[in-house]
Formats: sequence, C-alpha cells, structure tokens
Amino acid sequence: MKPLETPLDRLADVRHRIAQAARDAGRQPEDVALVCVSKTFGADEIKPVIEAGQRIFGENRVQEAMEKWPELRRRYADLELHLIGPLQSNKAHDAVQFFDVIETVDRDKIAKALAEEIQKTGRHPRLYVQVNTGAEPQKAGVAPQEADAFIERCRRIHGLEISGLMCIPPLDDQASPHFALLNQIAKRNGVATLSMGMSADFELAIQLGATHVRVGSAIFGHRALPAQMEPSARTGSADIPKG
Ligand SMILES: *Cc1c(COP(=O)(O)O)cnc(C)c1O
Repeated sequence: MKPLETPLDRLADVRHRIAQAARDAGRQPEDVALVCVSKTFGADEIKPVIEAGQRIFGENRVQEAMEKWPELRRRYADLELHLIGPLQSNKAHDAVQFFDVIETVDRDKIAKALAEEIQKTGRHPRLYVQVNTGAEPQKAGVAPQEADAFIERCRRIHGLEISGLMCIPPLDDQASPHFALLNQIAKRNGVATLSMGMSADFELAIQLGATHVRVGSAIFGHRALPAQMEPSARTGSADIPKG
C-alpha cells in the first residue's frame, strides 16, 4: 500500500475502511456516511477534499463554521454541514440558519430555543440528541438513563423531530459498550440514525450500527490549533469557549 501522505490519500483510505467495515458487518457501504470533521482547518485545506467528492462536513463551533463555510457553500451547492460541538441557546438562531444537521441537542433549554427558531425561520435542520453514555460530569449530552424521557419531551413538548443519536465515548474507556448502549437507546425510541465512531474507532462503531462516523484527524492530520479546542473534541467540556 502506498504511504498516506496527503489528506486525499487518507480520505480514500478512510472511505475504503468504512466500506470494508460495513461489508464485514453484513451491511451496505452506502449505509454508512462519512462526516469529515474539518474543525480548525481552513478553506484551503478543505477544498481539495470537497473536490475529491466529500460533501458532508462536521464543525464543532458555530462561529468558526460561519466564518469558514459561506464562501465554500456558494461554490459547492450540495454540501451538508453538521454541528457536532456543544450548543448554547443564544446560538440557536445561527445554528438553525446555518447547519443542515445539529447533532448536539441535549437539554430542554436548547430544545425549546431550537423549536422557536425552526418556527420563526421555517428552516428544518435534522436534529440528533447527544447522549453522554459515559455519564461524565464535564461532558455534554443527556444522561443515558434520562435519554428516553428527553427524546419524548423533544417530540411531545417541543414538537421536534429527532432523527438521530450521537455519542462521544470517554477517552479512556473501551468504546464498544458505549456504541452498543447508544444503539439500544435508538432502537427503543425509534431513532434510525446513529452518529458514533471517530478516527480511532470508526470501524468498531460501524460494526455496532453507526450510520454516520465523524472522522477528523485520520483525514486532515493532527489539529495544531488552539490547545483549548482539543478538550472540546473529546469531552465537550463546559468550561471552554463554545459556539
Ligand atoms: C473533533 C471531533 C471528532 C473527530 O475526532 P478525530 O479523532 O479527529 O477523528 C468527532 N466528533 C466530535 C464531536 C469532535 O469534536
């Protein structure tokens, strides 16, 4: 195999591994979507990846995405942007305006703010609930034992359509029980989309039912930018700048 020197080499490799993992699990490769996580990388680095056919991208901060993507969006009409970082209610307006998928719905205040913005704007981003499967106190997401009730409230009280679930397993845990738990919560709540698996474990996630894998560093390489952004990737920590 040739060395994986550029983002394009690595993108091709990741796509290949996704397809292989899907087939190994008795699934169709096209049933697993790659969300290419482009946070901290600039338009110049992203463009070749779009040119290579990638259309779905993930960003973890509303502000950063809104600075980076409008121009790319004018140029490439069929992009799909996912918000994968913690959302504050004062950013709900921008998030609804800007993203096609919001993966981090995790509390009533956010659900309510999103419902209001959806009403006002008529825009309907697809919504996933983030589940804090490891019940880590510093991490965003609804606690696993509260997930059923929260999904129900999103649907019944806030009038939101919840089409997916998302999780980020604890850094130092085996990921598989977390992926399996998210799959169970999805099944019993009639949720079809499972966003789970990152650079280190996306094949395992596919084995356990992921329909979307969020892969950043395995494509773009290591993120050099502000150290403060790293914790948000892994922990969704509450004490770092958001949005
Ligand atoms: C940064 C990030 C990813 C991608 O992580 P890699 O390990 O670089 O693939 C996935 N999901 C979320 C929520 C992130 O913040």
